[in-house]
Amino acid sequence: MLNKTVATLLNDQINKEFYSAYLYLDFSNFYEAKGLHGFANWYKVQAQEERDHAMLFYQYLQNNNAPVTLEAIPKPDTAFSTLMDPLQAGLAHEEYVTGLIHTIYAAAQEAKDFRTTQFLDWFVKEQGEEETNSHDLITKMELFGSDPKGLYMVDSELAARTYAAPTLTL
Ligand code: MG
Repeated sequence: MLNKTVATLLNDQINKEFYSAYLYLDFSNFYEAKGLHGFANWYKVQAQEERDHAMLFYQYLQNNNAPVTLEAIPKPDTAFSTLMDPLQAGLAHEEYVTGLIHTIYAAAQEAKDFRTTQFLDWFVKEQGEEETNSHDLITKMELFGSDPKGLYMVDSELAARTYAAPTLTL
């Protein structure tokens, strides 16, 4: 039986991860409209990863006989003017998600729920990678984004990203 606070936070995280997927689909849509298919691809793949994250929390709750409640996913509320804007919004969002994961982790530790802390270890590491990726995109845009040829090269690089299933399985 999961601790009630921990179970509620885990359930909330399903929604947060689906929102992340929604947010990144919105980013993808922005870049697609700008003709940057590589950036659009990168965020479409990222959205798939976020959906996987949501499903891991969903499955974890079910595996532990905890009820799952699916709430409404908020509308991404973002208006971008520059090519850099989504990248910075992405980093801010990942830092926010890191905070959410750490809050669940702290609650699980408090409840001596070591099964959940072990489950969350993967997400702690994953968030480190997400923040690094977000920083890297910003750096690339700072370095090359103002030059059309540079932007073309970055877009071509991001076009090569392919989806891979999460390394965590339940
Ligand atoms: Mg995520």
